[in-house]
Amino acid sequence: MDNRHLALYPFVSEASEYVGSLGFSPDRLLSSRALESARIRGKERVIQALEGEIEKPSPSSSEEGKILTELLSYPFSRILVSCIDDPFLTRKYALAEAKAAYHLLKTQQPEFLQDLATDFKINAEIYENPETHDIFFDLHFTDYIKLASPLKDLNWKLVNRKMKKGYVKISKEELARLLQEAIRLRIQNSLPVTVPKEICEACIPHTDTISEELEKKKTEFGVGEFQKVESELFPPCITQAIANVRAGVNLAHSMRFAMTSFLINIGMSVDEVVAMFNISPDFDEEKTRYQIEHIAGTSSGTTYKPPSCNTMRTYGNCYAPDEICKGVKHPLGYYSRRTWFKNRMQKDNEKGNEEKKEGETPPQ
Ligand code: SF4
Repeated sequence: MDNRHLALYPFVSEASEYVGSLGFSPDRLLSSRALESARIRGKERVIQALEGEIEKPSPSSSEEGKILTELLSYPFSRILVSCIDDPFLTRKYALAEAKAAYHLLKTQQPEFLQDLATDFKINAEIYENPETHDIFFDLHFTDYIKLASPLKDLNWKLVNRKMKKGYVKISKEELARLLQEAIRLRIQNSLPVTVPKEICEACIPHTDTISEELEKKKTEFGVGEFQKVESELFPPCITQAIANVRAGVNLAHSMRFAMTSFLINIGMSVDEVVAMFNISPDFDEEKTRYQIEHIAGTSSGTTYKPPSCNTMRTYGNCYAPDEICKGVKHPLGYYSRRTWFKNRMQKDNEKGNEEKKEGETPPQ
């Protein structure tokens, strides 16, 4: 790749080797006056990621100075994300970088996508349809499954694809989409990087602005408020499902239904549940909202209840049951029981009553 491409795809191995060869230490990246524009752009990358989209410079730009700024802004933005070290920010950042790359990849020649795939140890064979001259790629099914499994559209399911001798046929745009997933995983799994405390302290003027934006976004998505409730009162099965959604793992349909109906039944709004899924790599707001509204009864008139613990066990969705689980038959029962205990303790504390009332029977 030439330098212009390294600046546009700064997560490839060649780009990090090139930056390494320039000898820019984190310290120099932070203090050099000549690198002020790279720092500004690095911070802008993270802010834009929180807003949902990182704008890339024009691919035809050939000014060396601008190319270097763009290239060096990437390690600086990684330093900023690492110093803040917030899982929500890390995921948003990785996803936005990957999406920006996807938009560029769609416009590239097939050979370029093939080379980029090689950087991720993915062998994508190009072939041309002799009649239509359309270009396709053959991808080994193991690579295909690895990258396509978090994507929810049914079209990505292996059973819906043509497979020959272990290879899946995909279009150029589909390869670009799968590479987006590979890029997202590479960036997300490589963060946070280890940054010395003094560097993070020197970054405070930058990280403060980002943290402010981050808190606004979390409030908008109901993240902070929700996490508090979740960690205290939710049953292990639902907590695990939420953790999976946040990690970009595709939930089985039965678990997705259980989690959504649970959240609706304990009083979360459709908007709040939609926002929860907004972190997923293949988020389709219209489709998600339609499904949640159906479960909430907005469109169907029937509010669905989550399945009982027995049914959860049958589908393999009962995860790490704890002591409280032994006394309940339903995930909502678990929540009611814990809410009852919490309220009871609060009342006792208010009255200054030291006596514990464990002998009383909570609701089932
Ligand atoms: S026993 Fe019920 S509430 Fe507990 S983890 Fe299993 S399904 Fe969830």
